[in-house]
Amino acid sequence: MSEEVEAYKAQVHTGGCACGAVRYRVEGNMRPVVACHCSQCRKAFTNYGAFSAAQRGDLNIENAAGVTWFESSPGVRRGFCSRCGGALFWDRAGNGFVSVSAGSLDQPSGLRQVRHIFMDDKADFYEIGDGLEKFPQGQGGDQWPGGN
Ligand SMILES: [Zn+2]
Repeated sequence: MSEEVEAYKAQVHTGGCACGAVRYRVEGNMRPVVACHCSQCRKAFTNYGAFSAAQRGDLNIENAAGVTWFESSPGVRRGFCSRCGGALFWDRAGNGFVSVSAGSLDQPSGLRQVRHIFMDDKADFYEIGDGLEKFPQGQGGDQWPGGN
């Protein structure tokens, strides 16, 4: 491996669901965290979703059989633990990366949250005052290192 690749691969993150049935490992840099306030995340995460992301080839899911995949919108699937229901992954077909639930990462993650997306769908019972940039829809979109 080149020095550049070795430095990239040295960034290792691990994480998993609430019950421990599903664990994963990411060997490579992860994207800063994006808070998604869309209705799907609201219902899947008790409120909003916080996602980092990993290049597809860097993500190794241990016990992948323990993950249930659900098509939440056309071409997009969400993965959660079949036992505890812990939300873990957001995966759009064709993307080079997979979004990973930031809350499922082992601490310390070393990551920072950088923006809020889908503000138009935000629930009415909370306000956001952290000064980070906000987008009405999914700006930052499907690119790396944009939104989820
Ligand atoms: Zn679990």
